[in-house]
Amino acid sequence: MTKIYDIIIIGSGPSGLSTALHLDRLARGHGLATLILEKSRHPRPKLCAGGILAEGEAILAKLGFDLREVPHVDVDKAHFNYKGRGLIARLSRKRPIFRTVRRDEFDAWLASKAREQGIEIEEGITVKKVAVCDKYALIQTDQGEYRAKVVVGADGSNSIVRRSVMKNPRPHVGRALEVIVPEHVTARRAQLDAAVSKPVRRSLTLKGTRRSARDDKQKNATFDFLPVPQGISGYLWDFPALVKGEEMRCWGIYDSNIIPQSKRAPLRQILADEMAAHGYNLDDYELKGHPIRWYEPANTPAIPRVLLVGDALGADALLGEGISPALGYGKVAAQEILHAFKKNDFRFEKYTGRLLRSRLGGALWRRTFIARIFYLFKTEFWQRFVWHYFNRVAGIFGFLFVVGWEKKKKQ
Ligand SMILES: Cc1cc2nc3c(=O)[nH]c(=O)nc-3n(C[C@H](O)[C@H](O)[C@H](O)COP(=O)(O)OP(=O)(O)OC[C@H]3O[C@@H](n4cnc5c(N)ncnc54)[C@H](O)[C@@H]3O)c2cc1C
Repeated sequence: MTKIYDIIIIGSGPSGLSTALHLDRLARGHGLATLILEKSRHPRPKLCAGGILAEGEAILAKLGFDLREVPHVDVDKAHFNYKGRGLIARLSRKRPIFRTVRRDEFDAWLASKAREQGIEIEEGITVKKVAVCDKYALIQTDQGEYRAKVVVGADGSNSIVRRSVMKNPRPHVGRALEVIVPEHVTARRAQLDAAVSKPVRRSLTLKGTRRSARDDKQKNATFDFLPVPQGISGYLWDFPALVKGEEMRCWGIYDSNIIPQSKRAPLRQILADEMAAHGYNLDDYELKGHPIRWYEPANTPAIPRVLLVGDALGADALLGEGISPALGYGKVAAQEILHAFKKNDFRFEKYTGRLLRSRLGGALWRRTFIARIFYLFKTEFWQRFVWHYFNRVAGIFGFLFVVGWEKKKKQ
């Protein structure tokens, strides 16, 4: 007779690991047998710019982990631009606006933390199908069958769990392309940076924006909404990255496709043109692409015995941010699973409500809503209006409604 696990989590990215770690924390003493199945082996590659905001760091800190143990870059300023003008978002001099990591290193680090807590991860096992029976869920893999009372689909945007058991007909999937290039500050970038208008921060230090020699030593990130008038519901990014100890840049383009367009400029071409303006020839580097499923509140997040977390359910539609949300999903899912075991009721009918009531759910819902409006106004006039004339309003709006959903632990 095959063992029936209490919980099997499929996927050991941030959402799966966070679910396991939160379960370990919340359900300690309940003796729940939990297993993670992962098709790759850590450290495994994951296409991602690796930007982790304060919310993700706060969740990790509450689990007792310090993100700074992972090789990272502190990003001092984030520039939000359209054609070279916009706003600079910056926290205090001592705190970065966000950090970038390489996902192979970050995910392997988090997996090692999970293993240290005694969480079992079986690597090199690909799940092929999930089916739900009366008393358990059956998981078919390339190495045999597993059974569990509860299955968590944490297997990313192409989730096999979602495809096996959920009926969410509309796709809600965007696309991102990414390339890693050597770091060099070109004259054009310095010119663009100097043109960007005043910085916004929560406590609103609005300082001058002239690029100084000190700025050149800082690590800045750019979000450029240049592609929006070309039918793209997204932006170009340029982040600092630390790849095997070497300072590099991570360039990319995100299209949420939240406003379907019959005519859209090719993503590769837009990225290539912009990088060329900064002195890079895209043909010299390896360009990779991956889908990003974004959160649509109307989609079913769970059926009896199965629930979805992370990209399997949906990341942020507005900017494609998914690491911190993935960590946040873990907490909500763990609460829901613990509740199910306490009540011996595995229908997960209240997961939708729990998610929407959570700070994460509220933020994801707001971002989908904002993305639907913001990307609808796709004309050049609108983008100029927002980023050239109302950039500070946009910044304050962003800080009020987009970020800040997970608070830091009180010292
Ligand atoms: C180009 C790009 C850039 C991005 N940049 C950022 C960024 O800067 N900041 C940010 O916050 N987000 C970013 N994202 C989004 C972010 O990468 C995701 O939201 C995040 O990885 C979601 O985590 P997850 O755990 O849900 O899924 P994943 O990280 O995708 O993990 C899923 C795991 O499941 C495993 N798996 C998949 N299928 C199976 C199977 N059948 N059987 C067993 N295991 C399986 C995979 O191997 C993987 O380990 C970016 C995404 C892309 C594509």
